[in-house]
Amino acid sequence: MARESVDMEVEARLTQARQLCVRLGVRLSTQRLRTLELVLQARGPVKAYDIAKRFYSHRRASAITIYRALRFWEEIGLVRRIKSLNAFVAALNGEAASGFAFLVCGECGESTEIPLSSPAEVAAAASGLGFEIDRLTLEAGGRCRRCASRIVVVNEVEA
Ligand SMILES: [Zn+2]
Repeated sequence: MARESVDMEVEARLTQARQLCVRLGVRLSTQRLRTLELVLQARGPVKAYDIAKRFYSHRRASAITIYRALRFWEEIGLVRRIKSLNAFVAALNGEAASGFAFLVCGECGESTEIPLSSPAEVAAAASGLGFEIDRLTLEAGGRCRRCASRIVVVNEVEA
């Protein structure tokens, strides 16, 4: 994707985030907005440490500031945490998604978010235990299409 269209996409999603905050009646600080901007610009999983490094042009932001902002976006559903990578990624399926899964490539670290098609089974089992689910995340480890095909090619050369 061209640099310009990436910027436009980031800008569009920041506008949506601003509108969501107005709708929810939550305060949107410049720190929160800048943090979301950096998550969106990363276009893949990004660590809080790297966000802190890029936050200002001349110095690093404090880790607490970044974690607070990430938590804020996580709570309203615009950022997801991928625990297995200890990284954060912009949510694809929006704030309304009740269940989603991440496919995390163990070779290149790329993550893909997909909606969970049958979270109902988990929800039923949880409600049987009196547990109320706010969100449901599944992380699947493996290899993305690109890395899987690269491994096949290497094997063919060796054979
Ligand atoms: Zn990969």
